[in-house]
Amino acid sequence: MGMLSAVRKRLTDRHRTLSECRHCGTNLATTTTECTTCGSHEIAQYDFSQ
Ligand SMILES: [Zn+2]
Repeated sequence: MGMLSAVRKRLTDRHRTLSECRHCGTNLATTTTECTTCGSHEIAQYDFSQ
């Protein structure tokens, strides 16, 4: 039960925000400050909650 709501929360958060590397375009976790693909710190964050 607890695990299911945790997953649901993650999915909801994912729908509200999107982080993308400005350098290579890789989609990243919203908490990530460094691209896991190219190592760039230029992460674009889009907020769809408004
Ligand atoms: Zn990158």
